[in-house]
Amino acid sequence: MTKINLLYHKEITCPVCNNEFSSKKVRFSKLRLIKRDEDFLSYYEDINPLVYNIFVCPNCGYSATEDKYKELSQEDRKIILDKISAKWNKRSYGDIRDIEDGIESHKLALYIGELLKYKKIELGSLCLNIAWLYRMKKDKEEYRFLELTKELYEDAYYNESLIGTNMDQLRLSYLIGEINRRLGNKDKAVKWFNTVISNPDLQFNKALETMAREQWRLTRESL
Ligand SMILES: [Zn+2]
Repeated sequence: MTKINLLYHKEITCPVCNNEFSSKKVRFSKLRLIKRDEDFLSYYEDINPLVYNIFVCPNCGYSATEDKYKELSQEDRKIILDKISAKWNKRSYGDIRDIEDGIESHKLALYIGELLKYKKIELGSLCLNIAWLYRMKKDKEEYRFLELTKELYEDAYYNESLIGTNMDQLRLSYLIGEINRRLGNKDKAVKWFNTVISNPDLQFNKALETMAREQWRLTRESL
């Protein structure tokens, strides 16, 4: 399977400037999973869909995940036009992307997410994606973005509702534990894994239970 066959075009209308452009997307059904890290980074043969996660309008620079390509409020449109489009060097991310393009487009989306005051859980997930892209190229910048993810996820855990997001309390506390483990904060990691293990809802998620217990054991042994 060549890379080309794994991709298809998606036509998108920009909610900021109404420009129509196309971006590549990955056919998930044709991907072959090689392995998955304990913080859920999935590795696939040939291509990683993460690289194509962010749509970038070549005309005005609006960059976001597909679910953010819907109507924006007038205030948000104005923020993008003033802070992004005014300085935007017209360029396209619509072709085949490498990891570096994936990182750049995620950083644009993260900056826009900060400007538009996304929820911390959303900003955290963008940071985690950036950390993963750096991990794929074995770049130490990964740890700077894991640190940011940890801070945003902890803030979200204590201060935000997760309703309507693709995250739940269990998965979030597990991820905070695992990210702390990767950052070398072992005591904190154990504490977060304990939060997961002592949650009665864990019985409904056997896969996460196995992972939480295994990562708890691994961290405890290394203390
Ligand atoms: Zn646009």
